[in-house]
Amino acid sequence: MRLFRIRGGVHPEARKQLAAGQPIEDLPLPALLHVPLQQHIGTPAAPLVHRGQRVLKGDLLGHAQGAISAPVHAPTSGRIMGVGSYPAHHASGLSVRTITLQPDGEDRWRDDLAGTGDPFALEPEDITARVAAAGIVGMGGATFPAAVKLNLRQRYRLHTLVINGAECEPYLTCDDRLMREHADQVLDGIRIMAHALGLNRMVIAIENNKPEALNAMSQAAAGQAEVRVIGLPVRYPMGSEKHLVQTLLGREIPARGLTADLGVVVHNPATAFAVHQALRLGRPLVSRVVTVSGGAIRTPRNLRVPLGTPVQHLIDHCGGFEEEPTRLISGGPMMGQPLPSTRVPIVKGCNGILALTAAETRTRLPMPCIRCANCVSACPCGLVPLEMAAHTRAGDLEGAVALGLMDCVACGSCSYVCPAHIPLVQYFNFAKGEMAARGRAKQKQAETRRLAEQRTARIEAIQQAKREAMAARKREAAAPKPQTPVTSPASPAEA
Ligand code: SF4
Ligand code: SF4
Repeated sequence: MRLFRIRGGVHPEARKQLAAGQPIEDLPLPALLHVPLQQHIGTPAAPLVHRGQRVLKGDLLGHAQGAISAPVHAPTSGRIMGVGSYPAHHASGLSVRTITLQPDGEDRWRDDLAGTGDPFALEPEDITARVAAAGIVGMGGATFPAAVKLNLRQRYRLHTLVINGAECEPYLTCDDRLMREHADQVLDGIRIMAHALGLNRMVIAIENNKPEALNAMSQAAAGQAEVRVIGLPVRYPMGSEKHLVQTLLGREIPARGLTADLGVVVHNPATAFAVHQALRLGRPLVSRVVTVSGGAIRTPRNLRVPLGTPVQHLIDHCGGFEEEPTRLISGGPMMGQPLPSTRVPIVKGCNGILALTAAETRTRLPMPCIRCANCVSACPCGLVPLEMAAHTRAGDLEGAVALGLMDCVACGSCSYVCPAHIPLVQYFNFAKGEMAARGRAKQKQAETRRLAEQRTARIEAIQQAKREAMAARKREAAAPKPQTPVTSPASPAEA
């Protein structure tokens, strides 16, 4: 298959060797699990359990609300300790609604969970419904409910399901290990998703620095002409959906468009594995593989982690810190989010916990831009980061938007190559957040105006009705009275 070159991109030091040799290991249960009701893009789940309630592994803890939402399930058996606030798995450190569960140590699944028999005998709608009920979201970090993406066939003319096994972020190896160790199950999940999408063309794309994963997936797909396993050039951000599709098709996704605009749906190998588990075993999404790595971690590992496990528990299992980290990150070092503490729980979209040393982070003070244009050459989206940053710094966000701010995929390539150490991507994340807040405020204003106009119209209608009723009464009062015939008693003669 011919591959196309993407513009820009960088080659950060991969440092995958720290964890790549470590097979996936089941993490023992912690003393308490903190399961947030929102682990996905969309509306949070609504809680269904109460303090003191006993639950089995796989029981529904919170149901999805609305079209873009996902349910959450019990990651083990035990007792509900409460539904309250707990620090979110997010840089803000704000608290979110969370269910706390005390494991009973038995780790007992519900007895009634069962697979579907032959998933390929099911209608696409049935597969989508089961994927939705299992609470599966995009596990590459996007956390968009997977069932919504499987429904894209209704609105787009699709031709290919692409599995994004690029895993281009340094340090991360969880997808690599999943494909090496569970190639058959990942492929089964891919085929089930393709059936749901009505597609018979599947491409599994993996960066060439993962030869074992390439080999394992190729062996699993051997003899299946409709499945192609492709080795990708190693170049960050190859794992960005847009750039992956561009590499495979040679066509750019339209600005603010979707890969589906080009007939392609992209899913992650871990999402495919979760779909396999849901359809073949009836199991909802209650755990995921997480890479724990970085120079500050004593023994980097790939762990299968029950959702809701505090980050500290993973670090303890990896032997604790070799030295005090200067940065604790969820995800990779390029696009990951700093974590405010090790208390936060593991969630569906978390593929890595990195504890980086001072030598690995090399924080330097920013200096004035020297207009070297390194950032322009590195940008895979063809943007001009130095100009966008200048507009953002000056508070001219509309100017930054006019230069393509909303097309920025926040890959951090520009910051990575900037010799002046200007935190370009942080500027863009801030500006996008600010624009989103302005958009929400505008929407709210418009809604308030609409409600006020409706109220005025309602009051006017009532007053008009009153005026008309009063006029009708007046007309009635002024109208001549009808003559009532007078009947006199009959005279004796008539009688
Ligand atoms: S890379 Fe940094 S110094 Fe060079 S032009 Fe871009 S912002 Fe300026
Ligand atoms: S962060 Fe945005 S502007 Fe910077 S290189 Fe990536 S896409 Fe381009």
